[in-house]
Amino acid sequence: MQTFSNAGSGDIVLAIAQRIVENRGYLSDIDGLIGDGDHGVNMAKGFSLAAERLRGEPKSLAASLAALGDVLMTEIGGSMGPLYGMMFSGFADALDGVEEIDAAAFERMLRHGLEEVQSIGDAKVGDKTLIDALAPALQAFAAASAKRDDFAAALDALVVAAEKGRDSTIGLVAKIGRASRLGERSRGVLDPGATSCAIILRSLAEGAKAKLGASNPQ
Ligand code: ADP
Ligand code: MG
Repeated sequence: MQTFSNAGSGDIVLAIAQRIVENRGYLSDIDGLIGDGDHGVNMAKGFSLAAERLRGEPKSLAASLAALGDVLMTEIGGSMGPLYGMMFSGFADALDGVEEIDAAAFERMLRHGLEEVQSIGDAKVGDKTLIDALAPALQAFAAASAKRDDFAAALDALVVAAEKGRDSTIGLVAKIGRASRLGERSRGVLDPGATSCAIILRSLAEGAKAKLGASNPQ
């Protein structure tokens, strides 16, 4: 069975933080088109602060996700602070006490994160938010791992679905959040939150895949 250890995998969160910081300008530019242009700034601030705190002593994936969730929740403004705070804390809670992460544990992690975001944000698929990347990613991961017992292949399916979901936001009108004030004028561009969420999910999946490769030599 394909698994990776929770204990040795906190560096995945550092890699996610790095990708977000690299995309600071891009994410703010997108937010400038239908929002207030602060999404990349908010994101980079939160993720780099969390990375600073995590660097040095190696932590588990669950502990690193929890630390990131705490920083976002308590120290970062905008909509994304509490929303991503809930997502990462939800991910962390689902992995708490899990030693070896298999596809079922990974699926529970994604599901709990999605539920937590929806518990405070109330957005559904089609509202032009980060849910449009996260929900299909979970669905594709679950469907792929139900069909075939292959964790790595399910992670690939997750990335494809997250990016397809991100791209679907171009055709959508924002129903929730700041961009919803634009109504019809919000159509035609990417949603910043769905874009950052696809970056996060790709980095998370790539990190998990690399760990799987290391612990399950062919
Ligand atoms: P703000 O809108 O306060 O400026 P950000 O620019 O950091 O915050 O984040 C905007 C993103 O937050 C949007 O692109 C959208 O994806 C996401 N978002 C806003 N409201 C919600 C919600 N209720 N549920 C899920 N995601 C949301
Ligand atoms: Mg904004």
